[in-house]
Amino acid sequence: VIQIRNLHKAYGALEVLKGVDISAPRGHVISLIGSSGSGKSTLLRCCNLLEDSQQGEILFKGEPVTWRGEGHHRRPSDPKQVLRIRTNLSMVFQQFNLWAHMTILQNVMEAPLTVLKRERAEVEKAARGYLAKVGIGDKCDAYPAQLSGGQQQRAAIARGLCMEPEALLFDEPTSALDPELEQEVVKVIKALAEEGRTMIIVTHDMKMARDVSDHVVFLHKGMIEEEGPPETLFGAPKSERLQGFLMSTV
Ligand code: ATP
Ligand code: MG
Repeated sequence: VIQIRNLHKAYGALEVLKGVDISAPRGHVISLIGSSGSGKSTLLRCCNLLEDSQQGEILFKGEPVTWRGEGHHRRPSDPKQVLRIRTNLSMVFQQFNLWAHMTILQNVMEAPLTVLKRERAEVEKAARGYLAKVGIGDKCDAYPAQLSGGQQQRAAIARGLCMEPEALLFDEPTSALDPELEQEVVKVIKALAEEGRTMIIVTHDMKMARDVSDHVVFLHKGMIEEEGPPETLFGAPKSERLQGFLMSTV
């Protein structure tokens, strides 16, 4: 679904991604791990064009993003393509980002109604279905502040699903949660992995990464230091940096 080749990204003079390749084939779960500041969030935001990048290719379902300009002036050239990619890659953030003045149901319905211009009754039915699926079907009429962190994050996942995206991108979906609430969200992510959803997950939760991923990528200072199946990456890490990183996370 998503392929990134030789991606370079800098904020001014600060090089954050230095030639990264990553791909998420249909039905695969890719976990992205690495120390704070290694560029994980930046890479995720480049995938759905929330960030510009200066060099390298981004392909969505085999279709290359078209650019105009070069280097720091490079921008996607086709707004329709950008919209198609954004709406097909639902992002779930650490801080949920729910609208406080809308009910949970309204939060989930908002983008399909306004961005995709889908029919209200149909969207409501789907939204209720996704809220039930993540285990908060009884919270449709509550406001975000009335929910626990784990419930809010599950609402954010339902909101992502309601766009019926080709893939889900998670940026530290469990880091803002207490351990017991974290497990509710991990359970939902595991269920999504089992039903064959394509996902890229940035996480500090090595146990979840090991359990749900087909492929794990270890990013170090904007470059891929090591990658492979979870059994190898966690069971027999080759690079000293990865070994050190894994020691520091237990
Ligand atoms: P964390 O685990 O702490 O979330 P990360 O791996 O997600 O870290 P990024 O957020 O991608 O790291 O940041 C990579 C580097 O880019 C950091 O050095 C950060 O300070 C820098 N950076 C991120 N966003 C911006 C920005 N908007 N402007 C300037 N520099 C930025
Ligand atoms: Mg981050």
